[in-house]
Amino acid sequence: MDSQGFREAAATAIDDIASYYDNLDDRDVVSTVEPGYLRKLLPSEAPVEGEAWTDIHKDMEGKILPGITHWQHPGFHAFFPCATSYPSLLGELYSAALPAAAFNWICSPAVTELETIVLDWLAKVLGLPECYLSTGPTRGGGVIQGSASEAVLVAMVAARDKYLRETVPLDQFPEGSEAREDAIAHKRSKMVALATSATHSSTKKASIISAVRFHTIPVHADTGYSLTGPVLAKTLAELRARGLEPFFMTATLGTTDTCAVDDFAGIVSTLKSDPVHPAGTPGELWVHIDAAYAGSALVLPSVQEQVTISLIENFHSFNMNMHKWLLTNFDASCLFVRDRNWFIQALTINQAVYGNKASEGGLVTDYREWMIPLGRRFRSLKIWFVLRSYGVKGLQEYISRTLKLGEEFADSLKSRPDLFEILTGPSFTLTVFRVAGKEQGKSEEELNALTKAVCEKINASGRMWVTSTVLDGMFAIRLMTGVSTTEKEHVDRSWKILVEAAEEVLKA
Ligand code: PLP
Repeated sequence: MDSQGFREAAATAIDDIASYYDNLDDRDVVSTVEPGYLRKLLPSEAPVEGEAWTDIHKDMEGKILPGITHWQHPGFHAFFPCATSYPSLLGELYSAALPAAAFNWICSPAVTELETIVLDWLAKVLGLPECYLSTGPTRGGGVIQGSASEAVLVAMVAARDKYLRETVPLDQFPEGSEAREDAIAHKRSKMVALATSATHSSTKKASIISAVRFHTIPVHADTGYSLTGPVLAKTLAELRARGLEPFFMTATLGTTDTCAVDDFAGIVSTLKSDPVHPAGTPGELWVHIDAAYAGSALVLPSVQEQVTISLIENFHSFNMNMHKWLLTNFDASCLFVRDRNWFIQALTINQAVYGNKASEGGLVTDYREWMIPLGRRFRSLKIWFVLRSYGVKGLQEYISRTLKLGEEFADSLKSRPDLFEILTGPSFTLTVFRVAGKEQGKSEEELNALTKAVCEKINASGRMWVTSTVLDGMFAIRLMTGVSTTEKEHVDRSWKILVEAAEEVLKA
């Protein structure tokens, strides 16, 4: 394809994409293809001769789109959103046009510098304390990761390194000696990462990859599925009594099941008065804040205040995914750290081939030292385009609008206590509920079966999609309203489908 061919093909592609969004509501939300559908439609070998764009283009609608579940559909209420917007799509287009494995500053200075600048912008928009800015007092800063899972892994590896440096008397052992390796291995065998039963599974996965122990702190309805200071204090004492050494914990702002927020104030006060490694002293517990979804709501000063975001100056790292709820395409997982040296010390491996004058001069950031992969895409462009196109006000309006939809949906649920019982929320647009009937003497098993039947029925409508969870043994439906195409009329339509489904299931 030459540049003229590209101009023509790109024009059809852009037209297609715009029409796709204009007519999204005409499609069913969830793909209905059978497993293996695509193998039946595609040849078993790659073509020997190149094909015309017109033929390739035709197959997008005919073969690929039937197998797409439409995460931008206004009836998409499942999981959390997977964001996009036109400015973000344009950022992706330019990024694709300027490929560079920009692992060192010199590999494309704009890639690194724009990332540092837009993450500082974002940190300010979200109200993060100054220590998370690249220009802040503690040499902190932000870096774009591929996912919240990668972010927690980077944080855990840095925390593991920091803990070992602070608690193993390395100066007593000669560099490279077996005794030094043994001392480190012995310490590592006792190190334990913490999370609650509501924390996303990525923390457990990070502990598997980091080869450290993992401990789950159970949380239940009595604390709104959040971690409190006293529960943390008790857990630390119990683990230490077993000879284990807690070194890392993920606290969550917006858990996956219910969008619960852990008690930051309680955690800070527990860690400040920790009898073994008080916060701020060697061996302190590294606290990583996972705000993958709900972090986007911090664009609203009222939310910053509500979740006491200023307290995270006491923690070590913070992550939110713009690609969930802030109008930016996957992948835009923004990880902030209070001291960039924690990442750099843990993740820098120098190899002659990557040496260059700029890096050696020490005046530049080389983001390969802040992450697991070496090569990295120009991901900050789409963030820059989004922040500039919407402005802070535009982002605030969007988040407020989706929050309001979530509240209106919860109000509808409350208006029918004969049909529904809210278990949690609305929290960051998410309400978790089940079919009512406890008062009428229905057993937990019956309620679970009825709720499951309603869930299946509404999803079979094709007009909406919800996902479910299990809270303390209760099967529950999760419904969120964060997708950018969702308007009041769509939430009203989903409500109507839900009521009809519940009435039918209960009648049957
Ligand atoms: N953390 C929370 C709270 C989540 O809800 C999710 C996914 O929904 C993740 C982490 C994992 O996100 P990612 O797909 O970016 O790894």
